[in-house]
Amino acid sequence: MNLDSQVDKTQNFENCVLCGKLTNVRKDTPIEKRLGYVEGAGQLDPECYRKIYFKDIQIREQTIARRELSDLGIILGYVN
Ligand SMILES: [Zn+2]
Repeated sequence: MNLDSQVDKTQNFENCVLCGKLTNVRKDTPIEKRLGYVEGAGQLDPECYRKIYFKDIQIREQTIARRELSDLGIILGYVN
């Protein structure tokens, strides 16, 4: 009985599409109310979401920084 309800509970929650870890997001939660849901990909657990999200921001900031430098015509030896 106990085991059954545990299995039910597990099946009612989304798994992270990246690492497969069970998230605390219920499958019946509307997408717009979910945290860590990526359109086209699926549900991510907070850890993976943070990793991807911040990686994305870092890449964008680096790209912008690089573009600004080249716009100004500044060439620094240590900038790739
Ligand atoms: Zn994950």
